Amino acid sequence: MENPETPLEQVRANIAKACKVARREPDDVTLVAVSKTHPAEAIEPLLRQRQRAFGENRVQEAQAKWPALLEAYPGVELHLVGQLQSNKADDAVALFDVIHSLDRPSLVKALARAMNRAGKRVPCFVQVNIGSEEQKGGCPIGELPQLLKRADEADIPVAGLMCIPPLEIEPTPFFALLDKLARDHGLDGRSMGMSSDYETAIMLGATHVRVGTALFGTRST
Ligand SMILES: *Cc1c(COP(=O)(O)O)cnc(C)c1O
Repeated sequence: MENPETPLEQVRANIAKACKVARREPDDVTLVAVSKTHPAEAIEPLLRQRQRAFGENRVQEAQAKWPALLEAYPGVELHLVGQLQSNKADDAVALFDVIHSLDRPSLVKALARAMNRAGKRVPCFVQVNIGSEEQKGGCPIGELPQLLKRADEADIPVAGLMCIPPLEIEPTPFFALLDKLARDHGLDGRSMGMSSDYETAIMLGATHVRVGTALFGTRST
């Protein structure tokens, strides 16, 4: 795009540029617009610019916001990018098209049960605690093979791996590690990169970048 006029056009242009440098096809990278905390009025301009993949981090917030928008704008793909409690698995399976936060055996069980009940398979990214941070969600790297095996046995379609690198450190080695783990396990999807580092993530193989602030501005909550 020659003269990007909206934040979305700017982000799209940046993605295209990163893809070109990385010799990748722009179609191989999905921009997930993370609209958490932002109201429908902030989301609609993006929908009108044909953005179709959106991310939310809370099931209840998404239930309040999205049904009306889904009706008005066909073809939207909703991504759950936040931690999921097992008791919300049914609601998540009903509303979301992709889940980025499968991170523990108990959630494999809850999601498998929910998918069976709904008669619907929702592709899931397994979230990896890539920086081995104590407070952070995500499957410990050492437990990843076992968790992938359990997901496979439960007939959960695994789209790939997802990570949130530690804050305020250069993210490159963490993206490279997630890429390697995905390759080792024969998985195509890599959900990595946010507003501050999505171009870097694309250079290192991201297939899904989750961008909020660069599209919607700063969140107040
Ligand atoms: C909020 C959020 C994002 C978007 O972050 P920005 O820095 O606003 O782009 C991406 N991924 C997850 C898991 C999030 O919770």
